[in-house]
Amino acid sequence: MFGLGKSSGKSWLGAGRFTALVALALALASPAQAQDTRLAVGASFSILSDIVKAVGGDRVDVATLVGPDQDTHVYEPTPADVAKISGTKLFFVNGLGFEGWLPRLVKASQYPGKLITVTKGLKPHTMVDEGRTVDDPHMFQDPERVKVMVDNIAAALSQADPAGAAYYSERAKSYRGALDDLITWANKQIAPIPPARRVVLTSHDAFGYLGQRFGIKFLAPEGVSTESEASAKDVANLIRVIRRTGIRAVFMENISNPRLVQRIARDARVKVDGKLYSDALSQNPEATTYLQLFQHNIRAIAAAMKENR
Ligand code: ZN
Repeated sequence: MFGLGKSSGKSWLGAGRFTALVALALALASPAQAQDTRLAVGASFSILSDIVKAVGGDRVDVATLVGPDQDTHVYEPTPADVAKISGTKLFFVNGLGFEGWLPRLVKASQYPGKLITVTKGLKPHTMVDEGRTVDDPHMFQDPERVKVMVDNIAAALSQADPAGAAYYSERAKSYRGALDDLITWANKQIAPIPPARRVVLTSHDAFGYLGQRFGIKFLAPEGVSTESEASAKDVANLIRVIRRTGIRAVFMENISNPRLVQRIARDARVKVDGKLYSDALSQNPEATTYLQLFQHNIRAIAAAMKENR
């Protein structure tokens, strides 16, 4: 479009002007243009990072601390993590005690940006875990609550980057639509299963909100944090419950050691149905995004619950 003449040795454009125009053309044509102006943000774990990316799109660069298949509950932040978030304007966290290491990280990094708790405005369930009353932090397993998290994310991004406000709002709306479709689909998968058969066993209590949304009872030898140890008494109880009630829906999780669930299954003489993705996305192609993760879990749970007696 700049029509550089070939006939003469010297272009009609001066070298300096040419460089400037090429730079301008590249800037206009290439998506890399956004990179210079992208809003740098952090997210504490993979699921949240995926949702922030869904809302932030091309305007946002997201650094993730706890990656796929990793356990946020027992995570230990490293100096590299401090470096990772130190350049970000916003740091998105789940809150409700999910990131027990957060206060230490914020202090160590003297985090200069803004901490955004995405569960703000949502009322947590409390439960008793090893004698203490704690909040259940796993709201991200309920797409209805994720819609509120999406709005919190869009509001924080818009405040930090007002020029992108309409963009974020549009993307948030479209993601909420995808979540609505997912809820409708999930209800259809669960509806045919009689309520009495809707029981699932997993490693830790990560699915309380999911269970409440879809009328499923989740049993787990570990509490709401993988940090808590399953007591021998609880494990023996679960084995008895499985034997007595004919529960067949027994799952491992992608973030935790499968041994405990395998032992329970063996002692109760049932098979393990595979894996649920609890607190992290996966390297497995079936759960590289939150929407995929949710679909996998519902599909697996629905199929397994049909075998319950
Ligand atoms: Zn958890």
